[in-house]
Amino acid sequence: MTVTDMDTDCLFCKIRDGRIPANITYRDDYVLAFADIGPKAPLHDLVVPLRHMATLADASADDAEIYGRMMVVASKLARESGRAAGGFRVVMNAGPDAGQSVHHIHLHVLAGRPLGWPPC
Ligand code: AMP
Ligand code: ZN
Repeated sequence: MTVTDMDTDCLFCKIRDGRIPANITYRDDYVLAFADIGPKAPLHDLVVPLRHMATLADASADDAEIYGRMMVVASKLARESGRAAGGFRVVMNAGPDAGQSVHHIHLHVLAGRPLGWPPC
């Protein structure tokens, strides 16, 4: 176990452990998904690893499987929402310039409206 496996103050670890309520949309042995509390689109879910990992900036080859699992769950959520064909976006913010506010990695899965590009 590394230091990033546990973080008692982490919001998303608390959601994982049921200590903060959330609208859970998917869970397996590796990945959890739940509705974003401040949705920016009709579909706005967050996909997180069960294991605490702080930032994409720390990613190594050992993490390839969990990042892949997160993307597969993002695709599944978009399909199951009925919005995949219309288009959807998967975003992971990393670090201050990207606006990462919760330091437990998460994919934003957004769909249900035209999504501007580039992000401002
Ligand atoms: P980011 O700014 O990329 O780190 O994204 C963090 C996201 O977490 C934001 O979109 C917030 O709306 C969302 N968020 C914060 N608190 C909660 C919560 N208690 N339940 C669900 N989503 C949350
Ligand atoms: Zn965490």
